[in-house]
Amino acid sequence: MGNSKYSKETLYIHEGYKTGEHQDSLSVPLYQTSTFAFDTAEQGERRFSGEEPGGVYSRIGNPTVRVLEERIVAMELGEGALAFGSGMAAVSTILVHLTKSGDHILCTRGIYGCTFGLLKIMKEKYNITHDLKALVSEEEVENAIQPNTACIYIETPINPTMEIVDIELITKVAKKHGIPVVVDNTFSSPYLQNPLELGADFVLHSATKYINGHGDVIAGILVGKDKEKMETIRGTVQKDFGGIISPFDAWLLIRGLKTLHVRMDRHSKNASEVFDFLKSHPFVENIYYPFDVDNQQYHVAKKQMKAGGGLISFTIKGGMKQAQKLMNELKLIKIAVSLGDAETLIQHPYTMTHSIVPEKERLEMGITGGLLRLSVGLENSRDILEDLKQALDKM
Ligand SMILES: *Cc1c(COP(=O)(O)O)cnc(C)c1O
Repeated sequence: MGNSKYSKETLYIHEGYKTGEHQDSLSVPLYQTSTFAFDTAEQGERRFSGEEPGGVYSRIGNPTVRVLEERIVAMELGEGALAFGSGMAAVSTILVHLTKSGDHILCTRGIYGCTFGLLKIMKEKYNITHDLKALVSEEEVENAIQPNTACIYIETPINPTMEIVDIELITKVAKKHGIPVVVDNTFSSPYLQNPLELGADFVLHSATKYINGHGDVIAGILVGKDKEKMETIRGTVQKDFGGIISPFDAWLLIRGLKTLHVRMDRHSKNASEVFDFLKSHPFVENIYYPFDVDNQQYHVAKKQMKAGGGLISFTIKGGMKQAQKLMNELKLIKIAVSLGDAETLIQHPYTMTHSIVPEKERLEMGITGGLLRLSVGLENSRDILEDLKQALDKM
């Protein structure tokens, strides 16, 4: 449609698709094909040169994937989007695109475990260095930028400590230096936060999480402000590294997106009830949630997020042993990594998602043995609260 007169939620359902162009099918058809047949040799020549639009080969473009990409562009208020076979394929593609040997990447103090693993590979094999810094004031950002800084890579809220990073503040300083800013927006989803609107150049998602929302797909999304740049990435790093999404997974994401706003409202509502319960519980030592009024960064969270989202982290008295005991006592809540699903999930970052990070850095990131991360699902909140209560009663 490309029609911005509609509100966001309407675009999640309609953008990028015209029924009349697809045999009047209401649902977006699944083009489960690897390649596209040309009528003539000359048509093949024109398709390859870009003179004539149309399919060539699904690693370079697929009609189902295209609908997903157009929908995501509208959701993140960007100009171009690319879909990938995993969130990490989106992360690696943009970092490879923006850097060369000898460059430096400036990151927020906490980042996703595998992003940390990727930075380690880039440093050891290609001499692309990085720093993890608390980028909370303009001065700190200024001081952390080096002459060879090629990009600033932000997560907010930070996984799993839920620290909030001020996107506007960082992009303001980055602009002065002409440094592109990439935001991993997985924890907020495009419904709760739009980093491009706050000055970022690229936003990416592990679409495995809230965008899909049903725990049955691994996928990634990258959105940019500059259409031409996004097409360059499509024709180079994405095409040649090859981390593309399958048409079927794109089709499942299109289905998931239709309910993103409804799901996020419920995730946020359920999480705020769980937060209130845990915050006042005597066994809970510390609790981290973006919309906690006692959080130092509360005003920043309020400024850039529409709601608090579904993720809560907390530390339990007694450290790792007690944290693991609590997990084992849960009956409804599943012990699993990942987040953003209908099911409430709990995980132990110290031994699970962030175990790849060396202990010293892990502790600096605030990931202690007693820390638990809860992804509050869509069940009736009474049942989630009851499960937590019965497990805490056994501590
Ligand atoms: C899960 C996750 C990723 C990686 O995404 P995959 O889809 O698992 O490859 C990156 N960033 C964050 C914040 C995540 O939660």
